[in-house]
Amino acid sequence: MKIANKIKKHYVRRIYNLGENFIKRLLDYFLLISYNILKLKEEIIMNLKLNEKYNGFILKKSEELSSIGSKGYLFKHEKSGARLVFIENDDSNKVFSVAFKTTPKDNTGVPHILEHSVLNGSKKYPIKDPFNELVKGSLNTFLNAMTFSDKTMYPVASCNNKDFANLCDVYMDSVFNPRIYETPETFYQEGWRYEMFDKNDELKINGIVYNEMKGAFSDPEQVLMRYGQNILFPDNTYGYESGGDPVSIPDLSYEAFLGFHKRLYHPSNSYMLLYGNLDIEEKLKWLNDEYLVNYDKLDIDSNIEMQKPFTEQKYKEIEISVSENESIADKSILSYNFVCGEALNTVETTAMEVLEYVLLGSQGAELKQALIEAEIGKSVYGYFDGEILQPNLKIIAQNADKSKIDEFKSIIDTKLVEISERGIDKKILRAAINRFEFRSREADFGRAPKGLVYGIQMMGTWLYDDNRPFDYLNIDKIFGELKEKVDGNYFEALIKKYLLGNPHSAIVVAVPKVNLSKENDDKLAEKLAEYKASLSEDEIQKIVDLNVNLREYQNTDDTEEALASMPVLNREDIKKDAEKLINEELKLGDIKALLHETNTNNITYIKMLFDIKKFNLKSTAYAKLVSLLLTAINTEKNTYSELSTEININSGGINFSTLHLPDRKNSEDYVAKFTVNAKMFPDKIERVFELIDEILFTSNFDDVKRLKELISEQKSAIEGEFIRAGHLLAMTRSASNYSAVAKYMDATNGIYFYNFLCEIIEKLDSNPEEIISELKKTIQTLLVKENLLISVTTANANEEVKKVEKCMEAIENKLSVKCSEIFENDLVIEKKKEGFTSSGKVQYVAMTGNIQNHGRKPSGAIKVLIAILGKDFLYNNIRVQGGAYGAMAIVRNDNDICFSSYRDPNLTNTIDVYKNMYDYIKKLDLSNEDLTKYIIGTFSGMDIPMTPREKGENSLIAHLVNKSFEEIQNNRNEMLNVTLDEIKDYADLIKDIIDENNLCVAGGEEIINESKDLFDEIKPLLK
Ligand SMILES: [Zn+2]
Repeated sequence: MKIANKIKKHYVRRIYNLGENFIKRLLDYFLLISYNILKLKEEIIMNLKLNEKYNGFILKKSEELSSIGSKGYLFKHEKSGARLVFIENDDSNKVFSVAFKTTPKDNTGVPHILEHSVLNGSKKYPIKDPFNELVKGSLNTFLNAMTFSDKTMYPVASCNNKDFANLCDVYMDSVFNPRIYETPETFYQEGWRYEMFDKNDELKINGIVYNEMKGAFSDPEQVLMRYGQNILFPDNTYGYESGGDPVSIPDLSYEAFLGFHKRLYHPSNSYMLLYGNLDIEEKLKWLNDEYLVNYDKLDIDSNIEMQKPFTEQKYKEIEISVSENESIADKSILSYNFVCGEALNTVETTAMEVLEYVLLGSQGAELKQALIEAEIGKSVYGYFDGEILQPNLKIIAQNADKSKIDEFKSIIDTKLVEISERGIDKKILRAAINRFEFRSREADFGRAPKGLVYGIQMMGTWLYDDNRPFDYLNIDKIFGELKEKVDGNYFEALIKKYLLGNPHSAIVVAVPKVNLSKENDDKLAEKLAEYKASLSEDEIQKIVDLNVNLREYQNTDDTEEALASMPVLNREDIKKDAEKLINEELKLGDIKALLHETNTNNITYIKMLFDIKKFNLKSTAYAKLVSLLLTAINTEKNTYSELSTEININSGGINFSTLHLPDRKNSEDYVAKFTVNAKMFPDKIERVFELIDEILFTSNFDDVKRLKELISEQKSAIEGEFIRAGHLLAMTRSASNYSAVAKYMDATNGIYFYNFLCEIIEKLDSNPEEIISELKKTIQTLLVKENLLISVTTANANEEVKKVEKCMEAIENKLSVKCSEIFENDLVIEKKKEGFTSSGKVQYVAMTGNIQNHGRKPSGAIKVLIAILGKDFLYNNIRVQGGAYGAMAIVRNDNDICFSSYRDPNLTNTIDVYKNMYDYIKKLDLSNEDLTKYIIGTFSGMDIPMTPREKGENSLIAHLVNKSFEEIQNNRNEMLNVTLDEIKDYADLIKDIIDENNLCVAGGEEIINESKDLFDEIKPLLK
């Protein structure tokens, strides 16, 4: 079963038009360590010498970074004191980042509000939102900004040289010469403001970061994570919330906000990164001449003091809100937090990460298991934060009872004594190290550029020691040392040093309180009413004026002249050719197979796909459940804990899932698969097939206690995802009004599946035999030979296909020939407008519709139109004016148009915005340049370089939905050549879709109930 999605304490400026897993990836890629697929450029033209000066920069250090196929250079800008690292290699996906050490001294979230604000106009680019202009019209492969606990990073990436230069310049000008000094509107819009448009209105607070953090603080897990860190550092900067506590954000004044910029956004406090195949001397010259030469070195007080260790452990209780309809039994969260050493000790920090996995992360991890077995919590996990000066480890038990806190602590202490005395199984340790190393070698960060991930890793030491940017990039060295240490008692000693009797630790318990958020809202409303009553007529008028002016500022278009300052690309800068599909159809014996041959850095990716289209909704939910249970339950040969070790030693992972894709011609039809996914080095193929064989055919579903543990854990994980990514469930549920595949997606990932799990948990008490027999029947029904397709992504096709064919024989013989099971049809597609309520304070407002159901055909023009709506109209109305964190418009699977807001304080206003899209399109008047800009922006999301795994998967999916390369190329051509008329021709389609009103909203109980007439049904989201 998957580990609950870990939460990182970063804030990113922008939630983009999201793909399904975007948020997960965003959280995940920070956790990965990376490795070896790049090489140095063929010929190194540079011959840089130590201590020589290059355009104002002195080369201080250079280092071979063989583990990542690169060379690293550390520079210092002599006049301004700026630090700069260049990572040289042949990667065309170039990265630039400028970062500052931003250490907060309060909870107002000033680093975060600045992170948002500096990208709202600068001296050279005096428009309201250069960032969004780049989103609309650049070929970036990454564009965002992030606030961490102690730093703020501004990274950009692109494969196109001209584009890259543009992005770098806009970012540099934004951070050093922002317009925030001239336009206080930015602060009110991005940060916070008293809101009132008429003097008789109720006084409210609004602002983008304010709402973003209200959303973040609606998530009990995140709240606990924050307090867990803050409590360990009462005397230094980590005691404060860099993102901003909604209670404290309104304490931030415009002057203090400017002061923070003035003090810390100086080259002497900056850390820059250039990465990839680029001309370094040209870049150094640009940085020097355009920016750094204007500054003199300053001594800046941004230093982070070490927190003095405690002499005794701390204890704290905090309250979290649950809604009236939720049960509060088992809603507490218990946590044990430890400070573990110092960031600059990189081997130790990585060892702690491995240790966290061994104790709490892997299947059957001993400490986790002890807590689960004692029924301390339904979901138990560890979280190690090695990214701050004083790394810390958290042990968290969710869905727990507060009264068990003493037991929680004593089980942890006792178990850790036992483990450290007895010693950790060496095989388990090696397997864990192997797991981290495989992921490093694979260096698959999904859509995140490698250079960005390296850049973030570098900050883990560089921020605390000017001379040590490269430590984390020397992966060979770190893993080499760790492997050597397995045989001694190094890991056991770490347990004793940091986790046993470490007084610098704290217990934090989050206790549920019914309607706490409503209580807080009421208190705030009261406070605001009192405040309003204390104001003079004049002061009230000032607030009204501020809001009216802000609205006017937001509604005033940038002047042509100002807009002309933004760099532009031409349509010629866009790649003409679509990415080739790499599908070769084969037969392995009687079994259909698909081969994707591509350079995979010597990793083999294998998928087995069993067709489950015959399955009805309920049996599909069972299939999904089976997929989650496999590898987490015992097999004939191995306990789940042993199995996990075997998997980690022999592969980069084996997992199971379900996949549902819509038919592109007919919204009633779809593709449905049960999938086996594995990745490995080629010499392990045989062993991996043995393991898959063992798991598929000998997994034991009879252990009711284990089933209950796993399913309860999964239920908690889904609850977390609902809160963090409510737009996904809302969009899927909205599409269920007309789409069969959406129903199946809901049955495997959404509300249907959640309710299904809740039922199963109950039945495991009353009638476990029924569940066990259903699970067994499901897997038997699945494993049918004629329903199987194998997909192999590899660089060595000839050898490996033979190997796979041979390995398949054993499995093949065990598969049934045909599936005789007949499922009763339980699919009912009916229109229902639904509201799902929780104690959260923000909404996800979704509306979707199918292009072909409205008599139109999918086309490149629709994609461009949807990009325009998302990046312009919805962005301006839902985010900039409405205060939501995000607004998105996407075309899902070519055929479904989906709109959703993200962490939105509004509901009816957002629906009105959707209704206004028609008028906006009708009136849309774009110059040729503007249209080109949007076309480029539409491509930027599509043309992000794919990892080898993604190339294989992309080709496989095209095969499954019968999409040919010609179609993809045609679609690309349509997008490239689209005209304004073609785009506007779809106004009616958008109107039809909004009129069809497939509304689904997940969000705050009160707001949804206030608008109950909009819905056919209102139900609590969580049970
Ligand atoms: Zn933010």
